[in-house]
Amino acid sequence: MKVVFVGAGPGNPDLLTVEAHRLLSHCQLCIYAGSLVSPAVIALVPEGAELHDSATMTLEEMEVVFARAQEKDIDLIRLHTGDPAIYGAIREQMNSLDRLGIDYEVVPGISSFQAAAAALKTELTAPEIAQTIILSRTSGRTPMPEMQELEHLARTQSTLCLFLSVHKIGEVARDLTTYYGAECPAAVVFRASWPDQVLVRGSLADIAEKVEAAQIKKTAMIIVGQALSRDLPVSKLYHRHFSHGYRQGDGPGDTL
Ligand code: SAH
Repeated sequence: MKVVFVGAGPGNPDLLTVEAHRLLSHCQLCIYAGSLVSPAVIALVPEGAELHDSATMTLEEMEVVFARAQEKDIDLIRLHTGDPAIYGAIREQMNSLDRLGIDYEVVPGISSFQAAAAALKTELTAPEIAQTIILSRTSGRTPMPEMQELEHLARTQSTLCLFLSVHKIGEVARDLTTYYGAECPAAVVFRASWPDQVLVRGSLADIAEKVEAAQIKKTAMIIVGQALSRDLPVSKLYHRHFSHGYRQGDGPGDTL
């Protein structure tokens, strides 16, 4: 018997891994994050399977379900939105499983920041402009470690993907403007890959206003950075003078 932490991806069941799809289609017992995992993904669980919504459960209540699965020798799927490793609160569950002597595995999923980038049809990196992507959030009930406050991250001018923060878009845009400039591209993707997905594109100057007009208050990804612009220097990768392991450059100056 084991517990499998499964990444449910951003919402569209076609974005599940083959492994996640297989596990869900055969599952008998599942604890899922009801506030975020899409109904279309839950629908893959066979009728008659035992389902628990973790939104209404404490860790102790989850431990009871883990222990019962162990007793009955049934594998349990612990379904997390996106990728379980990002804001998944899986550490404490794994600690419980260690205490209970239950084995576990993790099946990764496509994170919502990736689905948001895909919906925006953008690259998150840009040569000479943004070679770093930061996945972060603003403080909520979970305070931010001081050195990871937005203003410290913003100094790096990396591409920022902010989870759990759209309700604070006004504050975020204002704080980032000092470091990125008011014209810096910013986007918000509500429910990336869901049927009711909404894309809001703008700059730090107007993104808050647009997001408020669209009445987006949760389940959205904020992406900020010059990398969102289309008008940037091109990568050397496809340049005819640039050779690499798979292609011979045809001119001078072809080392990276
Ligand atoms: N493990 C998840 C993140 C969980 S934290 C992942 O890898 O995506 C929850 C936050 O993720 C939400 O507040 C929102 O910021 C983001 N999120 C989750 N699903 C989303 C989706 N389909 N579209 C946009 N943002 C999403």
